[in-house]
Amino acid sequence: MSFQNKVVLVTGASSGIGAATAIAFAAQGASVSLVGRNETKLAQIAKICEQKGSKPLVIAADVTNDADAKRIMNDTVKHYGTLDVLVNNAGIFAPTSIFSPDALEGFDRIMTTNLRSIVQLTHLAVPHLVKSKGNIVNVSSIVSLGILFDHSFAYNTSKAGMDHFTRSVALELSKHGVRVNTVNPGQVKTDITQNAGIPKEQEVVMMAAIAKSTPLQRMGAPEEIADLIMFLSSDKARGITGSTFVSDNGSLLKGLVDLK
Ligand code: NDP
Repeated sequence: MSFQNKVVLVTGASSGIGAATAIAFAAQGASVSLVGRNETKLAQIAKICEQKGSKPLVIAADVTNDADAKRIMNDTVKHYGTLDVLVNNAGIFAPTSIFSPDALEGFDRIMTTNLRSIVQLTHLAVPHLVKSKGNIVNVSSIVSLGILFDHSFAYNTSKAGMDHFTRSVALELSKHGVRVNTVNPGQVKTDITQNAGIPKEQEVVMMAAIAKSTPLQRMGAPEEIADLIMFLSSDKARGITGSTFVSDNGSLLKGLVDLK
C-alpha cells in the first residue's frame, strides 16, 4: 500500500495507536499531519516519521477547542495543499458511574473529546475530502458492539455514538465519493489506562486478565490497528463505507455452552 502523494491527518498522534498509525503512513510515503497536545511526545514521533522517510507537519492542538480544530485543518491544507485521509483517533478513557455526583461532568468531558471533536473535525474536513475523494477512519472500540466496560457509561456511549455518526455521514458523503469507516479495537497495549489515572499495579493485573480472557489469549498492539486503518483508507477498501472493522483477538466471541 503506497501513500505517496497522499495527505493524512492523524489526531492523537503523540501516543499509542495514533503514533503507530502516523509512523506507518509515513513509512509508506504519506505526507502526515501529527496532532496532539504533548509537544515533547509529538516531537519524538515526528523524528521517527522522518527516519521512515517523510517529515511530518506537527500541530500542537487540543481537538476539543473549536479554534484549535480550525487551525488543525487550515494548517494542514495550507501546508500540503489538500487532505486525503482524516484519522480521528484522539480519545480518552475514564471510569464514570451513573451514581457519581459528577456523572454529568464526566459524561461531558468524555463526549466532548471522543465524539464532539470528531463531529467538528469531520465537518471541517469534508470540503477538502469531497475535492480529493478522500476518506475518514474513526477509531472506535468493541465497547460499542456489546462488550462493555462496567462503570464507564460515558466511554461506552461515546463509542456507540461514534459508530452511528460514522454510518450517518457515510451515507450522506457517499453521494460525493467520500468513504467513512470505523476500526473497533479490543484491548490494545497503550498508555490509555495510565492516562485514565488507573494505578500501574492495577493496570498490570487488569491487562494480564484481559489478555488471558481473549480467545486468542493475547492483547492487540498499536501497529495491528494501524495496519487496519491503512487498509481502510487505501484504494483496496474502495467498496467499503459505513462499516465497523473489529480487531479484538476474538473478545466478541462468546460461547454459550461448550458441547465438546
Ligand atoms: P493513548 O492514551 O495512548 O493516546 C491517546 C491520544 O489521544 C494521545 O495522543 C493524546 O495526545 C490524544 N488526545 C487525547 N485528548 C486529546 C485532546 N483533547 N486533544 C488532542 N489530542 C488528544 O490511547 P490509545 O492510543 O489507546 O487510544 C487511541 C484511541 O483508541 C482512542 O480513541 C481510544 O478510545 C481508542 N481505543 C483504545 C483501545 C486500547 O485498548 N488502547 C481500545 C479501543 C479503542 P496528547 O496527550 O498529546 O494530547
